[in-house]
Amino acid sequence: MTTPPSTLQPIRRPIRELPDELISQIAAGEVVERPASVVRELVDNALDAGATQITLRLQAGGVRLIGVEDNGSGILRSELPNALKRHATSKIASLSDLESVGTMGFRGEALAAICSIAEVSLLTRVDTPDEPHGWLLDGRSGELQPTARAPGTTVEVRELFFATPARRKFLKTDATELAHCIEAVRRHALARPDVGFAIWHDGKLVAQWRAVAGGGMDALRQRLADVLGDDFVQQAVALNWPMDAPDDAGAQRLRVWGFAGVPDAARSRADWQFAYVNGRYVRDKTITHAARSAYEDVLHGHRQPVYALFVSLDPTRVDVNVHPTKIEVRFRDGREVHQGVRHAVEAALAVPRSGTTPEPVDTVPAPAWTPPARQDGFAFRPREPEIGHRVSDVAALWGYGSGEASILRQAQDERVAARTDFVSTDHLDSVRAEPVEAPTHPQPLPTGDWPLGRAIAQLQGVYILAENTQGLVVVDMHAAHERIVYERLKQQLDDQQVASQPLLIPATFSATPDEVATAEDCTEVLKTLGLEVTALSPKTLAVRAVPTTLAQGDPVELARSVLAELGLHDASTVVQRARNELLATMACHGAVRANRRLTLDEMNALLRQMEVTERSDQCNHGRPTWRQVGMKELDALFLRGR
Ligand code: ADP
Ligand code: MG
Repeated sequence: MTTPPSTLQPIRRPIRELPDELISQIAAGEVVERPASVVRELVDNALDAGATQITLRLQAGGVRLIGVEDNGSGILRSELPNALKRHATSKIASLSDLESVGTMGFRGEALAAICSIAEVSLLTRVDTPDEPHGWLLDGRSGELQPTARAPGTTVEVRELFFATPARRKFLKTDATELAHCIEAVRRHALARPDVGFAIWHDGKLVAQWRAVAGGGMDALRQRLADVLGDDFVQQAVALNWPMDAPDDAGAQRLRVWGFAGVPDAARSRADWQFAYVNGRYVRDKTITHAARSAYEDVLHGHRQPVYALFVSLDPTRVDVNVHPTKIEVRFRDGREVHQGVRHAVEAALAVPRSGTTPEPVDTVPAPAWTPPARQDGFAFRPREPEIGHRVSDVAALWGYGSGEASILRQAQDERVAARTDFVSTDHLDSVRAEPVEAPTHPQPLPTGDWPLGRAIAQLQGVYILAENTQGLVVVDMHAAHERIVYERLKQQLDDQQVASQPLLIPATFSATPDEVATAEDCTEVLKTLGLEVTALSPKTLAVRAVPTTLAQGDPVELARSVLAELGLHDASTVVQRARNELLATMACHGAVRANRRLTLDEMNALLRQMEVTERSDQCNHGRPTWRQVGMKELDALFLRGR
């Protein structure tokens, strides 16, 4: 039998060195996928040259022309021919330079690669007196001509992929390619608010972002507003980690800063997730995962968070030379970065928006009082107030501990002290009749300036309606209370053990053998969770103690659902692994049910509690707990001009 001739039979061919042109074309395959890749490389170069203004001129989505003009350092005539050569760079000279590279480029291959697949010309002038004019270099012929130009560089790339029609076929419509080009510039623009950008397409200005003076968070905020829109900024919180890091700290230790969108601002696609490492836009799994996990507790379903976050660290702790386009990096200590990003985002998101300054609206005066800034990422604790009996009653009603009750008390003290025109109902008369001490606040706190306002009514047993300076606030009372209870349980568990309170009369119930077994196996875990459940018989369990926070709920229902959840897990590790699920289950039972009638005092107590509870803008399932309906929206409903 003979083997059939194989079409894959290797043919012996001599080993040859490839010509330079072909090497560059192969490299271009990695570096240049589409016009946007060229845009990115050219803007990188302009930034590396210290440009403060960069103008792009594109034709036909960048396929016909990409021109990038900058006011940077320019290139010396003597070095000009080198610029287009393979592995020619002014940015590194040795391996140690590579380890601490601070420029965008360093591989010296972009211009050479682009030259091999397009018509390139380079017009440049350095800012020195002995060079009174600029030079124009033709990439193909290498010809040099003197030309007039202000200091800076313009690189023009025409007819991309003209020599490689196969690759040209992969390009999409001009509109799509243009969108990719704009996206490439956007990524640069977010990292460099100090640089102005303009993009022209087929003679029309399609985007322009002016250089922002100053620096730090303010400049970044402005640039984000310009590039991503005011909505992004209004719905985002500032990040700064570690918390004591100044805006312009050196890059030596790990720092994370930027802005993260509130859960409400999340999108269906992950297209507004901008991450930078030492100023370079990257797509990095560690960072994406860390950011995502920071939203775990507040984001509903498959929504994608939005953020622009910047990580800076010692350049020797990150390898930027692992990907031809440098869009991926490798960290020496990925855990450190993961923790930093996660903490930064978590801390920023934890502060309830209801507790921060409401955005001033044209028609409404800005509030006279705002809560103290909370740089530390934690809810503020007001001073210890004098005691008034009514609030402690309310506190008991909501199952608050003494610390929380004092917040409510103070809130009420201040309200009583400050508001004489409070729209009163009978129960408040008794409050007003109480001797009221002069407030120790230099400026008293008017009720109307509480971020979530003062309660005015309850709607259909589901919503609390409140009035604040901006108009109407609508609160989903069950959702809000559930979050408050949940956060309190988490806090207590972090401090070792959930506070527990014995029941005067144990609640007994007939249990399944599984429930009895779990109760007996998990005594310790239950205790940590503030529960005491003992077997009275092989078929009966008794609940003897419940978490103080949940004292108002049904002890049997609570015990049953906790036992069911514990039954699913390995008891020894459940508190570490499933802590949040467990506590969320418990919170659901402790939270006030819909259809329960609340007094105004109770409603106000809940609002004040929301203002100081972390993550209280979302319920435990990531849905919003409150909405603002502004006067403008109300006026619009009634066609009322203002
Ligand atoms: P790299 O950026 O990796 O050094 P490039 O091929 O992109 O490689 O550029 C080669 C060199 O050309 C750069 O190192 C730089 O010295 C010079 N150059 C390119 N673009 C500009 C520019 N816009 N302004 C000043 N110099 C430039
Ligand atoms: Mg470069």
